[in-house]
Amino acid sequence: MENIVVLGSTGSIGKSSLDILSRTNRYKLIGISFNKNIKEALKQIEKFSPKYVCAGEDADISNLKAKYKNIVFLKGKQGLIELSSIEEADIYINALVGTYGLIPSHTILKNKKKLALANKESLVVAGKVIKDAADENNLEIIPIDSEHSAIYQCLENRDKKLVSSIILTASGGPFLNRKTFDNIKAKDALKHPTWSMGKKVTIDSSTMMNKGFEIIEARWLFDIPYEKIKVIIHKESIIHSAVEFVDGSIIAQLAAHDMRIPISYALTKPKRMELEFKIDLSQIGTLHFEKPDFKRFPTLELAYTSLKDENKNLGLVLNATDEIAVEYFLKNKIEFSDIFIILEQAFVKFEDDLSSNIFEIDKETERIKKEIVHLIEKDFIGG
Ligand code: MN
Repeated sequence: MENIVVLGSTGSIGKSSLDILSRTNRYKLIGISFNKNIKEALKQIEKFSPKYVCAGEDADISNLKAKYKNIVFLKGKQGLIELSSIEEADIYINALVGTYGLIPSHTILKNKKKLALANKESLVVAGKVIKDAADENNLEIIPIDSEHSAIYQCLENRDKKLVSSIILTASGGPFLNRKTFDNIKAKDALKHPTWSMGKKVTIDSSTMMNKGFEIIEARWLFDIPYEKIKVIIHKESIIHSAVEFVDGSIIAQLAAHDMRIPISYALTKPKRMELEFKIDLSQIGTLHFEKPDFKRFPTLELAYTSLKDENKNLGLVLNATDEIAVEYFLKNKIEFSDIFIILEQAFVKFEDDLSSNIFEIDKETERIKKEIVHLIEKDFIGG
């Protein structure tokens, strides 16, 4: 039995992870972290009896503390670092949302623990530094993102030198065929055609920033030059991604839209767990593929450009800017198309060298987020 810690256990991926853990006795859940959802955390504590529980800075956990005397309670950013440094842990699932996941990912790898990564920000913001930490300790980062899990499965036991390209599929989001981006409200963007996910990633899917982030993620996970990473629109999202080899053969992974499949694979690979989420290809009929529109969705180009000079902080800038812009859009304070404008402005304005120190990178992220708040308040909301 291996000891596992799930960071971000009350989010969408976190809950799916715990569901998978409840189906196997290969793992003992020894730690969880949550931000504010005490009700869900309480259910999880009752069910799994973890030894360590880390709560968000603003969560009031006095009742939890009184009730569970044997649990070690941790708090906030510092608590997450402590939770990422548990001696008896064997493997971590990092399902934190946003740049909060950055330092934990780095800490886990530095401590030579296995990392199953759902937090794509870790690689988008600090891909080079995170990859170095993994390489130093001879660790591979196990992807949980559905596309990257697909690629990982397609690459298994195959010679990476024979790969001619990685094909990331994208549903295209709810606005793929919409004529203009005018008058889009947050609630429209939150209606994803195929996947049910957290709010931030759903908005990122509608702008295709999510796919942009996944290009960056793929670059670091599979150590492949960005020129070899391609994006294709595939609205059914049945093929989760594919790999093309030098002889022209394409190997793809097809599955239902359920994150429990990539999560279970990350935990059992190369073995597989019996799961009930099957697809019936005869019911699906036809699959469609088309080229993405780089003009309508400039987020893709920004992602590729950010990889041209890996010593620069452009992934960091994209990510920090997007986090704030999406926050403002969700509050209906800015227009949908403003997200693109803000990203493009920040990209030029905040370009700098990337630090090799994860704490400095984290600080820089916070600094840029503040700058973006200023920029939006000043130029985008009648200030
Ligand atoms: Mn994905």
